[in-house]
Amino acid sequence: MSKKQLDLFSGSSDENEIDEIKTLTDLLLKYQHEYYVLNKPSVSDREYDSLFDRLQFLEKKYPQYASKNSPTKRVGSDLTSDLPDVKHTIPVLSLDKVYNTPDLLKWIEKLKKHSSHPALIVEEKIDGVSIVLYYKDGILERAVTRGNGETGNDVTANVKTIGAVPLKLAEKVTVAVRGEIYLPLKMFTEINQSLDNKFANPRNLAAGTIRRIKSSEVGKMPLNIFVYEGYFEDLDIPTHYEILKKLHDLGFRLNKKAMAFADSDNDISAACNSCNFIPVLKIADIVSYIAKEEKERKNLDYEIDGLVIKLDNISDREKHGYTGHHPKWAVAYKFESSEAESTVNAIDIQIGRTGRATPVAKITPVEISGSVVSNVTLHNQDYIDFLSLSIDDKVTVSKRGDVIPAIENVVEKGIHGSHIWKMATKCPFCKTDLMPDGAHLFCKNDLCPERVKGQILFFASKDQMNIENLGFETVELLVREKIITNVSELYVKDLSVLEKYEGYAQKKTELIKRGIEKSKEKPFRTVLSSLGIPDIGPKVCQLLIEAGINSIEAIYEIAENNNTEKLLGINGIGDKTAQSFIKYFNDIKIRETIKKLSEAGLSMKEGQAVVGNLNQTFKGQSWCVTGSFDNFKPRTIAEDEIRKRGGDVVTQISGKTTHLLSGQSPGSKHEKALKAEIKIVSEQEFLDLLKQ
Ligand code: NAD
Repeated sequence: MSKKQLDLFSGSSDENEIDEIKTLTDLLLKYQHEYYVLNKPSVSDREYDSLFDRLQFLEKKYPQYASKNSPTKRVGSDLTSDLPDVKHTIPVLSLDKVYNTPDLLKWIEKLKKHSSHPALIVEEKIDGVSIVLYYKDGILERAVTRGNGETGNDVTANVKTIGAVPLKLAEKVTVAVRGEIYLPLKMFTEINQSLDNKFANPRNLAAGTIRRIKSSEVGKMPLNIFVYEGYFEDLDIPTHYEILKKLHDLGFRLNKKAMAFADSDNDISAACNSCNFIPVLKIADIVSYIAKEEKERKNLDYEIDGLVIKLDNISDREKHGYTGHHPKWAVAYKFESSEAESTVNAIDIQIGRTGRATPVAKITPVEISGSVVSNVTLHNQDYIDFLSLSIDDKVTVSKRGDVIPAIENVVEKGIHGSHIWKMATKCPFCKTDLMPDGAHLFCKNDLCPERVKGQILFFASKDQMNIENLGFETVELLVREKIITNVSELYVKDLSVLEKYEGYAQKKTELIKRGIEKSKEKPFRTVLSSLGIPDIGPKVCQLLIEAGINSIEAIYEIAENNNTEKLLGINGIGDKTAQSFIKYFNDIKIRETIKKLSEAGLSMKEGQAVVGNLNQTFKGQSWCVTGSFDNFKPRTIAEDEIRKRGGDVVTQISGKTTHLLSGQSPGSKHEKALKAEIKIVSEQEFLDLLKQ
């Protein structure tokens, strides 16, 4: 809770506490509106939850003063008038919460009032968008948001675009199914990167998408769903365990990580004829299970904010009943928040190798989910405007999915009051004007030292040309002293000039020069991806080469003829990549760089014998590589060695594969190769072959 709010609630007399009930009720209702309707929370979830808990505590103490509209008594509403309303036929409630295991154990004890041996099912609490799917005689009739718990918004057309939502069930049942729609984390990161208007987290992006008016746009978003409750009209299914099994058999997507807990096996497995649909543990194991799940949370490809513990027996559930806000037979165990509060001390502008200007907040270092965060990207001016952010503001920082830090909202404005920070108009490194392109500003100066530095660092990096001994400091020096102004000059300029700088003795300079010379052995595909052309990364380069576009001449021919058809005919290459290919391979400056690299002796044709003119001992052979290697890290180094000797490298074993290079912990390819009687080569045998 912020100091302002602590001050507000510091009184201890009854009168003060009664006033506090009213203040908290109004405040929480305001926060609910900001969160659910405006999609723009002004406080963190943690802060909201602590105010909510305080209100719950006070309402228990003074029940006569609790408002009947209290947020503790009804579901926070996300209803919007932009979409049609639909009345729910089942209770669509929120969940009660506990934050520690003693409280959870107390809650389990309370269940014994109506269930002497309560069997429980524990599911992950997916942090997505709540949805109810209504099926009539096995056909999806309607998909409705949670709304205010009684009425939701009809989003059927949008939900129908989600592949994992069955439109027709395996049986003609009439059922209402509750589920959570979510956006996988990896997809969120990729999509958010390409969006002009960024979202702070996958839940907000999924929620915004589901409420879009155009279903065709929703269809483009890789949304997914887990379902977790089923209310059948004509079937009387006695346990949650069996309901989940039934939902699975009907064709729904269930979260496989559910776990059952019971003290007597009969409680659960017998009910489902020992079908082992969900593993069963003893109730006493629940605490260690929760600890394990919390630890493993970071490995998931979707966000969860806790676990949901549910009573298994359906008739017992009804005996426990409901409040207007939550069922009494289930509780959410909330995980430690992956959020923290910090202060923005400065906002720097970073210039990337493409010239894109990205504002980055320098915050007071704060630990979130086990690591210290001090820099947080702010993407662009639109995002800063959305947050209404200024230097000195107190903010909530999250590490969504434990990966990318993001500023979620401003908690308290700082010395600049309502002023919003504005991007500079000039590049901070070369002072040329920043130019708008979409939602971003760009430095268009090809000689901008920051851009050149970024390009060289990318070009020389481990996954690209892997130039040994050419580190960050050396690149910085080379650019600062204007020794190098373009990647091609690495191969043209005499870098002996470095020796006159402190710390660059002859030996060190020699090693750098040797690293540069050795990089000339890299195959064409690596040279191509090292140029850092937007969308033309290693995967695309591999696809191009596999499709026979394996030389710079072949590339130029396609670019000059604007032959997008040929590119789009390659499985895995889409419109955006094709456009980028045509644009950049027709660009005079890129061509100039490629020409100089070619003149310096870099490979401009796949399989072309490069420096050292190696014997083409693997010519006509097709190699697949699996496992890890002591001498080839990353294993693409082994693949390069094969190509340099005229061999082909493929990613899958097929009838045409002649050799499998098999390292430590090989995958299923090893088995496949054995079955197909393909020659399997060990790392040592491979080293011997390379010496030939
Ligand atoms: P909730 O998110 O705490 O939990 C209830 C929801 O969990 C259910 O409605 C359901 O949609 C979902 N869920 C996911 N997996 C489930 C499963 N396996 N079984 C059952 N349900 C599952 O409740 P809520 O009412 O949606 O949101 C309240 C939370 O939202 C607060 O705790 C707070 O963190 C946040 N909030 C924040 C603000 C703010 O201003 N920052 C305002 C309002 C709400």
